[in-house]
Amino acid sequence: MAQLSDDCFAFGGPLLSVEAAEALIAQRIPPLLGEEAVPLAEVAGRVLARDLRAPLPLPPFFNSAVDGYAFRQADLPPGEGALLPLAGRIAAGHAPAAALPPGHAVRIFTGAPMPPGADTVVMQEDAEADAAGVRVPPGLRPGANARPAGEDVAEGALALPAGRRLRAPEIGLAAALGLARLPVRPRIRVGVFSTGDELASPGTALGPAKAFDSNRFTLLALLSRLPVAASDLGILPDDPAATAAALRAAAGTHDLLLTSGGVSTGEEDHVRTAIEAGGRLVFWRLAVKPGRPVAMGVLPKAGGAFASGGTPVVGLPGNPVAAVVTFLHLARPLVLRLAGAAPEPLLRIRAEAGFAYRKKAGRREYVRVRLRDGIATKFEREGAGLLTSLTESDAFAELPEPVLAVAPGDAVTLLPFAALF
Ligand code: AMP
Ligand code: MG
Repeated sequence: MAQLSDDCFAFGGPLLSVEAAEALIAQRIPPLLGEEAVPLAEVAGRVLARDLRAPLPLPPFFNSAVDGYAFRQADLPPGEGALLPLAGRIAAGHAPAAALPPGHAVRIFTGAPMPPGADTVVMQEDAEADAAGVRVPPGLRPGANARPAGEDVAEGALALPAGRRLRAPEIGLAAALGLARLPVRPRIRVGVFSTGDELASPGTALGPAKAFDSNRFTLLALLSRLPVAASDLGILPDDPAATAAALRAAAGTHDLLLTSGGVSTGEEDHVRTAIEAGGRLVFWRLAVKPGRPVAMGVLPKAGGAFASGGTPVVGLPGNPVAAVVTFLHLARPLVLRLAGAAPEPLLRIRAEAGFAYRKKAGRREYVRVRLRDGIATKFEREGAGLLTSLTESDAFAELPEPVLAVAPGDAVTLLPFAALF
């Protein structure tokens, strides 16, 4: 983490672009080392620590893709069908008793091994069978309805690269390869604070001038999709000394700290100053809306020195939508980098704008939209504090820095919530 402390975009100059912040993370955050062997049933969401080569081919043997009759193409007169007498039956899970005798067919079921000599299968729906044998129609290409060994993965091939996040498809592939445990990176320890004298935890009484803390739970839920061991570190008061002390203490026991709120320029905003006081500010303020007041820094891991590297800290904005937008651009890539995951750009899709919108040049804006039949319709209100703008939308429309206006019919890029939340 020491690399980060060399940079300082904090003062003066233009706001840091989202792209520059992402590049900074991609280039300067070293992955945390370590590896553990975890049973397949528990690896969901973790990061593969080593390349996995296939110890066997997939499928492991030449087999039928359908219920039907296996035969040898060369036994049919060219361009014609034939009546082939049946020479046995092979069910899934059972080895063929013998090779296919010339001029014959065998009854075969999906997943059953092809008998030596057979190369093609006719589906049972396309064939007529009776006591005399099976009538195979003309026109089946050689190899039809049969799956060669290794057509999915060849033996020895790279099945999954190091850095891949293990989702349902990857876990299924590893299981098919017979692997009971996988070498994965350790979970990143992430501590989550809220800040603000106005905040009360859900489940406690709400006094006058108080509001319930939502960000902590949004952030913990976002983190639950990542290879993270998250700790809920509660609510910090708007107090500089308490904020600095809490961040310093948590930095010693976490790999990443996230706070929300308290990062603007008000006299009651103490997160940025606490980062500066206890460690180093890397940047402050992004050219993004919502989400401009966001700070990133590094705090010493222990003993007040950076000798052993440091713990990155991201001070997210307090407004709930701004906290989500900046989480996605800073916290998520930070976690993935620290966890040794390969870069995973956010999924972007194109749609047609069904709305008009004006914006300032020089900053990226995220507008909440609903998506119906390829048309993106804007959520009617724009406040960064509107939680329902997220619950009642389907995507962020991402309006790039140079764009000044969107008109109905324009193409827009969307970040679908289904891929984010
Ligand atoms: P701040 O940046 O601390 O001034 O916060 C900006 C706005 O976000 C204020 O209205 C805060 O009350 C609100 N806010 C800050 N933190 C949270 C939180 N954890 N949950 C919900 N709202 C918050
Ligand atoms: Mg505050």
